[in-house]
Amino acid sequence: MAIQKATVIGAGQMGSGIAQTLAQSGMEVTLYDLDRSTVDRGIKMISTSLNRLVSKGKTTDEQRSQLLERIVPVTDFDSMQEAELVIEAAPERMETKQRIFAELDQICMPHTILASNTSSLSITELGSATNRASFVIGMHFMNPVPIMPLVEIIRGLETSDETFEKIQHLTHKLGKTPVEVKDFPGFVSNRILMPMINEAIYTVYEGVAEPEAVDQVMKLGMNHPMGPIALADFIGLDTCLAIMETLYLGFGDSKYRPCPLLRKYVQAGWLGRKTGRGFYRYS
Ligand code: NAD
Repeated sequence: MAIQKATVIGAGQMGSGIAQTLAQSGMEVTLYDLDRSTVDRGIKMISTSLNRLVSKGKTTDEQRSQLLERIVPVTDFDSMQEAELVIEAAPERMETKQRIFAELDQICMPHTILASNTSSLSITELGSATNRASFVIGMHFMNPVPIMPLVEIIRGLETSDETFEKIQHLTHKLGKTPVEVKDFPGFVSNRILMPMINEAIYTVYEGVAEPEAVDQVMKLGMNHPMGPIALADFIGLDTCLAIMETLYLGFGDSKYRPCPLLRKYVQAGWLGRKTGRGFYRYS
């Protein structure tokens, strides 16, 4: 049977985009975050994204309202007991995610699939925090979720074929393309993308060029739609640093060492677009 009821944990930029995409495919979604104001901010992001679709004539006002009704904001775990699938999109920290997975394992139905939207962390290690490793899988959406067609699907060591097939099927139903990759640090996407972003930050750190110049070189010279520095701000500098740390720790190779400037910005709370300041300023 196809999955109909899902929960998304974390109503940040990824979680809200995932909730919107699930609801767009007709599913009933509960969207969880730590407190009411944060989960409401997530609903507002979805509403803004839908308003844009209405103004472009891609959806109607009525469809927008129906879609929003399918997303229920919650701040307690008990309300996710009926979910057939939970997709976790909390910050990129193993301890945080393992705690969430252990709690979900206690609360959810025995056959509920627990997926993580992690950018780089081990799915096998997340599975080990539960007693249902065969139901644990990586479902790595790209940002912005409603627009980007790729979902990297990552099997942990014990992920079952049945879990994999259900998630593959769901990904197609969402109108996206699943690509299966193995469970190694950063998978494929961030093992390639993030060292490039980190190197771009090094060129700023070493005074080779200003952020604007680095971005121009990569946009005009390499045909990238967005420069790597602007992309780092868009992803979130905390997430970029966490991914580099995972690569560095996971492979033990100095080529993945995070740039000290990236670390300094994160220490300052300059996380990019989401805090209004990163390498660029946002109003
Ligand atoms: P974000 O900071 O925008 O959102 C994270 C949300 O999680 C926040 O709303 C926060 O309140 C909530 N949260 C914090 N602690 C929590 C907890 N203990 N339980 C539940 N929720 C908690 O981050 P994001 O960019 O949405 O990233 C979320 C996940 O998605 C990360 O694992 C990240 O690596 C991954 N990801 C990010 C991108 C990207 O471009 N930003 C792309 C793909 C995957």
